[in-house]
Amino acid sequence: MQTILNYIDGELREPNAGEWLDSIEPATATPYARVPDSDNSDVAAAVDAAKRAFPSWSRTPAAERSRILLDIAARIDDQREALARAESIDNGKPISLARTVDVPRAAANFRFFATAILHTESESHRTDDVAINYTLRQPRGVAGLISPWNLPLYLFTWKVAPALATGNTAVAKPSEVTPMTAYLLSEICRDAGLPPGVLNVVHGLGPKVGEAMTLHPDVPTLSFTGGTATGARIGQNAAPLFKKLSLELGGKNPNLVFADADLDDAIETSIRSSFANQGQICLCGSRILVERPIYAEFVRRLVEGANALRIGDPLDDDTGFGALVSAPQLDKVKQYVDIAREEGATIECGGDAPTSLPDRVKSGYFFRPTVISGLGPTSRVNQEEIFGPVVTVAPFDREDEAIDIANSTAYGLSSTVWTQNLSRAHRVADRLAAGTVWVNTWMLRDLRVPFGGTRQSGVGREGGEEALRFFTEPKNVCIQYPLSDS
Ligand code: NDP
Repeated sequence: MQTILNYIDGELREPNAGEWLDSIEPATATPYARVPDSDNSDVAAAVDAAKRAFPSWSRTPAAERSRILLDIAARIDDQREALARAESIDNGKPISLARTVDVPRAAANFRFFATAILHTESESHRTDDVAINYTLRQPRGVAGLISPWNLPLYLFTWKVAPALATGNTAVAKPSEVTPMTAYLLSEICRDAGLPPGVLNVVHGLGPKVGEAMTLHPDVPTLSFTGGTATGARIGQNAAPLFKKLSLELGGKNPNLVFADADLDDAIETSIRSSFANQGQICLCGSRILVERPIYAEFVRRLVEGANALRIGDPLDDDTGFGALVSAPQLDKVKQYVDIAREEGATIECGGDAPTSLPDRVKSGYFFRPTVISGLGPTSRVNQEEIFGPVVTVAPFDREDEAIDIANSTAYGLSSTVWTQNLSRAHRVADRLAAGTVWVNTWMLRDLRVPFGGTRQSGVGREGGEEALRFFTEPKNVCIQYPLSDS
């Protein structure tokens, strides 16, 4: 059994209280590592270390911060195979996905923000011929970074990289369900010469470690990605302490397919956007709305594609569909399929566990890709986030109707639109309630664009310039100069 350690003040440390949790490999449902069950005192030590490191790190020239972060990116690339394997064991995702998406994107996060800080501009405003104002953007101090289990390394680095690049120090908590890659990243940071205390990683439970971070008076900035209910709780903790807060929360994303779409492309990508990472990506399209003339063919081919996904050992290179992350997550997915049945749905495919699995993973948390039809837009299955390999399909007749259904949940994270009609693409994108609208593609990422959700999918935006601004505090300096030199 491996031991995962906290990373505090540049050292890999056991938790103060000596308490541990088991880390379970979802594909086998057996413990594979022990992870610190940290408490308040570990968080306090991490915040102290981050506070001590802040004056020096925030004054370190951008070029030097950039050099260290680029070194971290290079080491992530060098250790791609080890990181992909760790992510696959931790999370249950196919190793091929970790290798081609999670790990390269984690390195890209560091590379992007390490170079962005070399090219930033700040504003200057002249007030007639009386004064000049300029804006300083200064790091805010210790950032508290909390990330979920679904894309453990990718979402963790998405926060760590901009926080550190802009001169903040950080205390970060990965999900205790998937701690291994954050631990490996701690080692990478130490080996890359990141000064002690600049990044501190505290492992443990949300209600203990996460809660302590959100309540700590010396953590003025909080960036959280996770569920909507947890986000609401964090908002309640942060508000009385006037913390700057970014919340990236859940979604119930619509995928609109018009009859003029390139059907091959729409189906192939919809299989990915429904079932990649076993449907456990906040951006997965979980409600597929298809224009009636192509509905029957679309559903038939979607079901064929779902059934053809190769379910197996996540560590096998050929596996296309792995295990769900945990027993509670598997239970939640099963419950929603039961609700769908009670709501009168037709299960077009899936709806249960696979019957034949390789011996090593026979006891894992597996559930087949599931397509459900026959439910109205107000059904629970179409309103509540399931966060698993379950999608609904429904026909529509008019553009307006599709937009109304798409916008009919409490969420607003992302949407996908499939059409060859350019005017319709712009028109529909304009009307969808979502932070991101993809047209004829899905999960294409450009790190410069603002990323985040509306409504219950979150508050604030991350990515590119938005992240650089989020992690810095603008200060206006107004200098009046005399009207004449006499
Ligand atoms: P959770 O909200 O359960 O957990 C997210 C993180 O918060 C974990 O590290 C968790 O720790 C921690 N946490 C839990 N309770 C608290 C608390 N009271 N105070 C502070 N931190 C706490 O989400 P999941 O991990 O289950 O992730 C899935 C959710 O994340 C889905 O809803 C998904 O849509 C959303 N998500 C959103 C994304 C976006 O960009 N909008 C991207 C990816 C996911 P622990 O795990 O130890 O409980």
